[in-house]
Amino acid sequence: MQKRVEMLPNIEVMWNTQTVELLGIEGLGGVVVKHNKTGQVRTLGVTGFFVAIGHKPNTDIFKGYLDMDETGYITTVPGSSLTNIKGVFACGDAQDHVYRQAVTNAGTGCMAALDAERFLMERKIEIIMEDNQ
Ligand SMILES: Cc1cc2nc3c(=O)[nH]c(=O)nc-3n(C[C@H](O)[C@H](O)[C@H](O)COP(=O)(O)OP(=O)(O)OC[C@H]3O[C@@H](n4cnc5c(N)ncnc54)[C@H](O)[C@@H]3O)c2cc1C
Repeated sequence: MQKRVEMLPNIEVMWNTQTVELLGIEGLGGVVVKHNKTGQVRTLGVTGFFVAIGHKPNTDIFKGYLDMDETGYITTVPGSSLTNIKGVFACGDAQDHVYRQAVTNAGTGCMAALDAERFLMERKIEIIMEDNQ
């Protein structure tokens, strides 16, 4: 990804640089950045600001409970949203390290909802049968 970006003539990569401030009242008018090594502060006259948040899923609270890969993506039974715990289903960016798109996550979200509904229906039938015994 880094190499692909460096090959594009219309992108300037600013290494060791952090955003200090976003300027503007009704819209973005500029971005103040600071070089972490020299301390030099610059204002860039840009009107767009796009934040990328990395590739580590926010799944730490499930560590020790749900099976995960080494990066923290929750492992599901292929073709389903089933996790290693019965009645717990995973979908979206928490379990998909390949596509990570809104539309694919809406799809796996739907799968998880259907799997959860089926699980609850089966539980309901089990409880009714237990009550009738
Ligand atoms: C900068 C950027 C650009 C993107 N561009 C595109 C694009 O152009 N096209 C595209 O298809 N996809 C794009 N994506 C990817 C897309 O946004 C994600 O794949 C999608 O939003 C993931 O959906 P999700 O429901 O799995 O997770 P999320 O949308 O991340 O939803 C997870 C939710 O869980 C909540 N949550 C987290 N922890 C807890 C907790 N402990 N308790 C309760 N709630 C919690 C969060 O607040 C959040 O609301 C982009 C993503 C980023 C970051």
